[in-house]
Amino acid sequence: MGSGMRPQRGAAPKEFGAGAPSRRPSHLYGMEGLTKIDDLGQPRVVIVGGGFGGLALAQALAGAPVQVVLIDKHNYYTFQPLLYQVATAGLAPDAIVAPFRKTLGRQPNFYFRLAEVQSIDATAQVVETSIGLLRYDYLVLATGATANYFGDAEMQRHAIALKSVGDALELRNTVLANFEQALQMGDMEKINSLLDFVIVGGGPTGVEMAGALSELRAHVFPKDYRELDFKEMDIHVVQSGPVLLKGMSAEASAQALQDLRDLGVQVWLDARVKSYDGYTATLNTGQRLVTRTLIWAAGVTGAPVAGLAPACLLPGNRYQVDDYNRVAGYDNVFAIGDIAAMKNLAYPEGHPQVAQPAIQQGNLLGNNLMRLLKGQPMKPFVYADKGTMATIGRNRAVADIRLFGREYHLRGFIAWLAWCFVHVMALVNFRSRIAVAFTWAWNYWSQDKGLRYIIGRVRAAPAVDAGATADKAIV
Ligand SMILES: Cc1cc2nc3c(=O)[nH]c(=O)nc-3n(C[C@H](O)[C@H](O)[C@H](O)COP(=O)(O)OP(=O)(O)OC[C@H]3O[C@@H](n4cnc5c(N)ncnc54)[C@H](O)[C@@H]3O)c2cc1C
Repeated sequence: MGSGMRPQRGAAPKEFGAGAPSRRPSHLYGMEGLTKIDDLGQPRVVIVGGGFGGLALAQALAGAPVQVVLIDKHNYYTFQPLLYQVATAGLAPDAIVAPFRKTLGRQPNFYFRLAEVQSIDATAQVVETSIGLLRYDYLVLATGATANYFGDAEMQRHAIALKSVGDALELRNTVLANFEQALQMGDMEKINSLLDFVIVGGGPTGVEMAGALSELRAHVFPKDYRELDFKEMDIHVVQSGPVLLKGMSAEASAQALQDLRDLGVQVWLDARVKSYDGYTATLNTGQRLVTRTLIWAAGVTGAPVAGLAPACLLPGNRYQVDDYNRVAGYDNVFAIGDIAAMKNLAYPEGHPQVAQPAIQQGNLLGNNLMRLLKGQPMKPFVYADKGTMATIGRNRAVADIRLFGREYHLRGFIAWLAWCFVHVMALVNFRSRIAVAFTWAWNYWSQDKGLRYIIGRVRAAPAVDAGATADKAIV
């Protein structure tokens, strides 16, 4: 904020700025349109999104002389790196989520509203939400990213992406329901369509998902479904580039490929899924893979909010921000985490869309907002890259760790232990850490994954597979 300017508080909202899609007339900016939140007479920081970045920021502002209002469309924070374990019956959903009111409720300056932010009027300093309008002095966009289907509507309709607990539970239900249904099938192709899985994307999510499914195939499902032949269960990973885990070291990529192949996963490198109708995935090589379950882990796009000038939104739907996370062209609007692209020499495309930049930006922005209020200059963001890791399954993982200026490449059991430790410690509260550590210890010892429940939504069979009802023979 150039001159350390402090936005005017309580300025009468005028009208939505250019580009805002809302047609709400300006008279609705009166009291009756406002969300009912006490005015503490302090500058109000509105944070949109309570993921890694938003949560870190809200925590960094504990005790600050500001009113913190967090708005999220869920009433809980999600630890996304472990979603795949919920999807594969390894962890219960409540082990990886934490309610905002419990996590932050003791901060006297903290307010939460369960709502979706629909647009921003930067001129009036107001956000329009699904529950009303909300005035801000400082606005922080921490809305993260969503699955990118690159405009393929059919893929979007039929594939399952893993972005929320709801997605993870739907995937778990669908996998289990597939096996239940396969028991009643006679046609071999139909059985294969239910038992086979195609994972699009060979990044950490794709690799971890494939590893977890292969563990279910080796140790768990044969006990549950003795009548099925698990030699028929194929797991495919389709990766558009020449290596898995792009962005990690060559050693890590090669090891992950070796591990997946050892586990019997079929990896298709330099291949793309050209089309998927809910039953057949066709690769650009011409190969056809029949599956009712295609898991989309092939990239993300930002989840921006309408209303800011189109020029500040870069390809990939990320807000262009300066070294202080200020959105280009705005003094008191900031963006952090996956939704922000801070381009510099070290990161010409912006920082990687992973948890650490979001957390570090949230922490620094909390500090910078306090500096602003004291009339001090803000500090620029410098990313401390601690490295990357991915697990492929029991006793198998790869880790590129940066410590004291040196890089270490770990693999196998030691990398797996490091992965477990880092993920348990990164969970947001003590209860989750104990729950996850205990469940993992139990799963490891018993070689089992006990959460094989079908509760809630199952992905409906696509129309193309409408004839795939159970065989009617009398048994
Ligand atoms: C399956 C999966 C596995 C991953 N594995 C790893 C990993 O192993 N290591 C790693 O470092 N990173 C991993 N990531 C990436 C990491 O989770 C993200 O980089 C990180 O969550 C980004 O944090 P964020 O705060 O920017 O956004 P998020 O954590 O995505 O939070 C965004 C929040 O904004 C809310 N929101 C969005 N739009 C609105 C709106 N309009 N109104 C109200 N609320 C809104 C959402 O509900 C959400 O709570 C993984 C991601 C996924 C999906």
